[in-house]
Amino acid sequence: MTEQQPDLAGLRQGLDEVDTGIVRLIAQRRELIDAIAKLKEQGPSGIQDPDRERRVLDGVMAVATDLGVSASLVRTIFRELISDSVAQQARHLNGDGGGRVRVAFQGAAHAYSDAAAQKYLAGRGLAGDLTGHRTFREAAGALLAGDADLAVLPIENTTAGSINEVYALLREQPLFIVGEETWKVDHCLAAPQDVPLPRLSRILSHPQGLEQCSQFLQTLPHAIPVTHFDTAGAMQSVAAAGDPSLAAIGSPEAAAAYGLVVLRHGIADTEENYTRFVALSAQPAPVDVRIPCKTSLILVTRHEEGALLRCLEVLSGSGHSMTKLESRPRPGRPWEYLFFLDFEGNAADPRTAAALDELRSAALFIKVLGSYPAKALRHPPRPGEVPGSPPEESPAETLEAVAADEAPAARRSRHYRLVDRAARPADTVIRVGDVLLGGDGFVVMAGPCSVESAGQIGATARFVRDHGAHVLRGGVFKPRTSPYAFQGLGWDGLDLLVAAGRETGLPVVTEVMAVDQVPRLARAADILQVGARNMQNFDLLRELGKVDRPVLLKRGLSSTIEEWLAAAEYVVAQGNQQVILCERGIRTFESATRNTLDLSAVPVVRERSHLPVIVDPSHGTGQRRYVAPMAWAARAAGAHGLLIEVHPDPDQALSDADQSLTFEQFAALMRGLAAIPAAAGALAAGQQ
Ligand code: PEP
Ligand code: MN
Repeated sequence: MTEQQPDLAGLRQGLDEVDTGIVRLIAQRRELIDAIAKLKEQGPSGIQDPDRERRVLDGVMAVATDLGVSASLVRTIFRELISDSVAQQARHLNGDGGGRVRVAFQGAAHAYSDAAAQKYLAGRGLAGDLTGHRTFREAAGALLAGDADLAVLPIENTTAGSINEVYALLREQPLFIVGEETWKVDHCLAAPQDVPLPRLSRILSHPQGLEQCSQFLQTLPHAIPVTHFDTAGAMQSVAAAGDPSLAAIGSPEAAAAYGLVVLRHGIADTEENYTRFVALSAQPAPVDVRIPCKTSLILVTRHEEGALLRCLEVLSGSGHSMTKLESRPRPGRPWEYLFFLDFEGNAADPRTAAALDELRSAALFIKVLGSYPAKALRHPPRPGEVPGSPPEESPAETLEAVAADEAPAARRSRHYRLVDRAARPADTVIRVGDVLLGGDGFVVMAGPCSVESAGQIGATARFVRDHGAHVLRGGVFKPRTSPYAFQGLGWDGLDLLVAAGRETGLPVVTEVMAVDQVPRLARAADILQVGARNMQNFDLLRELGKVDRPVLLKRGLSSTIEEWLAAAEYVVAQGNQQVILCERGIRTFESATRNTLDLSAVPVVRERSHLPVIVDPSHGTGQRRYVAPMAWAARAAGAHGLLIEVHPDPDQALSDADQSLTFEQFAALMRGLAAIPAAAGALAAGQQ
């Protein structure tokens, strides 16, 4: 023991030196950003370059993968660094920074609004004196009375929607939006002492906090929810009362500040829960046109047919992309509505100013709330790509013959209409996480046949992610031929799959076997798979047509392409257009492989339907040594992606051991894939 201590101390010293080095490098990076900002000050170019940002992220993630560092960790760190450097450049251009401002917010100290206001100031190099107020109106009142320079108020939440009271203030009062900030809301349950959850009798929080954790609260049958004017205030009251049967919902920071013990972390119904805040001022603050901006306005349309459409056409016609549109009742005018609208643009830019003028005459009333540097921008999804793909060579000439001879309309089926290519000439493109499936993208879904343990799914998720997979697969309800075979881990398995997906940043796909599983699986998984055996389970298909989740529909063991497309029609006809078809092999007289992988189905389906089609060579062949060649062939045939079974120790797999790839085999498959030009774009082109 004593011999090890100097070693530990030495290692810790080494660690401290590395940490200091990291901070020094960040300082060095900021100096370079300063130099870039000075250069840009002279030029007309904007400060945000999404292509360049993407290249930076891809570059550092590739280095991370080479060095065996988690790519998602590196991505998270660099997203923050990039966002910091954009703010740094914006400050330069706008001449902000330094100085002290008085800021009003709603709530007690350590409320989410307090944290968001601090973040807003820090991003602008400002110091502030922050004052909490009981209500939104009082916070705005302090601003209008000249007692504050800014008010930072929440305007919408990604789970609960718009905060109407704040919109009402914006409508009524001479307030201007001069900035925005986002805050990830991470609710926890905290109490004066570490007590078992069943002992709790009352849970205090802001109504929004209670609403956002309603599913968790339902698991505490003895506890009554009690509304409080804010989350941090609820924590403060619970701490002051010192009653062990009381608890509050709020941020872990507020819990720590008021000396409470966190009983449970992450209790919100949805993990991705953000609030958007606006910084308000009594005067508008013009922003340099090179800074990416959003403009917010309130709009009342004329009493004419197509009035809203005409207003929106003004924006789209002038190249402004809308980021929010919400209708609210118009006070005192029953059944009339006003609209809250945000779009990307800056009123200081003549092009935007002209569009606003045009909008003024198209509408009955508009109030421009302000143009301000955009923070809450959606990250636009991009087509899935195979890492290291060579520049696309078009195999168009060889494929041209596929489609041109007979018009798809001439082959129209009696069994389906909506999934028919004739109903929608353009490919359907489906968003899965941050990638687009369909069209020109190529998306790889990989993972074990069944989720078996946290270690198994976690290790597989990390490996496939680091080797270019876009989606994690893992069955938890397994349709097995024998009732004595492993049936899957069920809901416990789902928790493990979702945790592995979260850790690696991969969306997850899992099989749904029964109608009653649909709501819960739809909440947790990103794609719902219908297995080959259920392709014609029409009740299940209809149910999946009612949820807003992509459905991966496998081809039935002995189904024709016509029957397969008709099955897809069941889903689409109910309203859900997000169907991904998956060729996984059919039964033939051939017994050398588990199934016969019908790759010709790919160009046929692409010709007859606009839906994306992927290929599962694992079930298609049943033997791991055949999987990679058929995966490469699938890409060449024009598939939009792959579904592949991978296992850390395939011989020990609890299901489909023979066809599961080892990690090395999966890496080799992905390397080989990069050498195959995708036929996807060419096939569509051949059909014109
Ligand atoms: C699976 O993907 O694990 C599966 C059961 O597939 P299929 O329905 O194609 O047999
Ligand atoms: Mn399987």
